[in-house]
Amino acid sequence: MRESRSLSRREFVAGTSGLLMTGAVPAVAALGGEKTASAPAQSPLAIHGGSKTVETVPSLPRRWGDPEREQLDEMLKQDSLFYWGGPRTRLLVERFRQVCPLKYVHTCSSGTAAIHIAVAAAGIGPGDEVITTAVTDPGTVIGVLYQQAVPVFADLGRSTYNLDVEDVKRRITPKTKAIIAVHLGGNPCDLDALKAVAEQHNLVLIEDCAQAWGAKYRGRPIGTVGHFACFSLQDSKHVTCGDGGIVASSDERFGPIMARFGDKGYDRVKGLGLNVFATNYRMSEPQAAVAAAQLPRLEKIAQRRSELGNLLTEKIAHIPGILPHQVHPQDRCVYWFYMFRIEPKAFRGNRGEFFKALRAEGVSCASGYIGKPLYREPVFQNHGFFAGRWPVKELGLTTIDYTKHSNPEAEAILATGIRVTIHEAMTEDYILDVAKAIEKIARFYAA
Ligand SMILES: *Cc1c(COP(=O)(O)O)cnc(C)c1O
Repeated sequence: MRESRSLSRREFVAGTSGLLMTGAVPAVAALGGEKTASAPAQSPLAIHGGSKTVETVPSLPRRWGDPEREQLDEMLKQDSLFYWGGPRTRLLVERFRQVCPLKYVHTCSSGTAAIHIAVAAAGIGPGDEVITTAVTDPGTVIGVLYQQAVPVFADLGRSTYNLDVEDVKRRITPKTKAIIAVHLGGNPCDLDALKAVAEQHNLVLIEDCAQAWGAKYRGRPIGTVGHFACFSLQDSKHVTCGDGGIVASSDERFGPIMARFGDKGYDRVKGLGLNVFATNYRMSEPQAAVAAAQLPRLEKIAQRRSELGNLLTEKIAHIPGILPHQVHPQDRCVYWFYMFRIEPKAFRGNRGEFFKALRAEGVSCASGYIGKPLYREPVFQNHGFFAGRWPVKELGLTTIDYTKHSNPEAEAILATGIRVTIHEAMTEDYILDVAKAIEKIARFYAA
């Protein structure tokens, strides 16, 4: 049904001899009502009462069904729903390795848990510094703080929204122990450069792949360059079981001990005593059943999102004042979201007006990503992570002051970015309409 609607729209556009593309057809004609010979130069913006550029946003059909039901049915025939030795967990691990071929794989309760496990298994502790981005989900740094370590935020690439390697280098101190590279929006970080920095300074490189399921860095599966790969299976991610996570590593220093840090310190292979202190971040068989059934769906989802996002870039790259989401040509970005920026100087209107106008054109979009960089959140500004206090600072293990922290490009990204929804059920026609809407608004507000 969606396909037929988009086809008829394409035919309609073709039927107006491309006039609609140039914005030369007045609003009423665009609706198919009349044909007008003397057309105005540009149709009014929808926000000013003109017709919408986008008729309907394709909706995402339910992302689970028979394969998940089959796995759940099989799971219910088991005598135990516990992860250790569980057939669904084993299947999930096996299927995960087809996506991200790493030797040691541990399922856990969330992406946040996966990162905490990685940080703890890497031996990161009180006062150690971990360099990462402030434009991310809080889950990137929660585990760092729980290990009594210190997140240090580096600035970002202007249109990649990923770590600026030069700024990462500037922030390295003798206390730095790790880098957490977040592949924001599914766009791979410059991993070779980050790996080189990590090797030079003996740091652990943790990849936060929560938004990057199915992404590829220079042809390599995301998660396979760093020392750890961390994935989320939370409901909003490319594949999901409601809540869940996976942490993986091929490093012999970390891989074999990793699971203990998500399983209350137990070593279920050797059965030794509690040599490490850790919380319970286990994933149970019901989650693993759903997640295992989801993974065969991933490749199509990743491929489709990649194509659609790249198409949008192709169609808006020429518009003055618009900075498309920048992806390396040899990488596969899987567009958990697409974000373009507007150059404020190029427009009479500000980001808020641009965004409202775009939404009025019928585009599914949002202004920016998170409201502010993490270090500007009250809990960072107050250094109040543990019952309003931060022992690491009180003990003098860090002198960091988040009220003085600043990542100018990260702040500018959040102030000028417009996030466009991309999902696998969207069509090329829809994306072309999104591009037309962006162009229409950019022309209207052009300075
Ligand atoms: C979703 C997400 C997380 C946390 O994952 P949860 O499963 O929600 O705990 C961490 N980092 C990034 C970049 C995310 O998008």
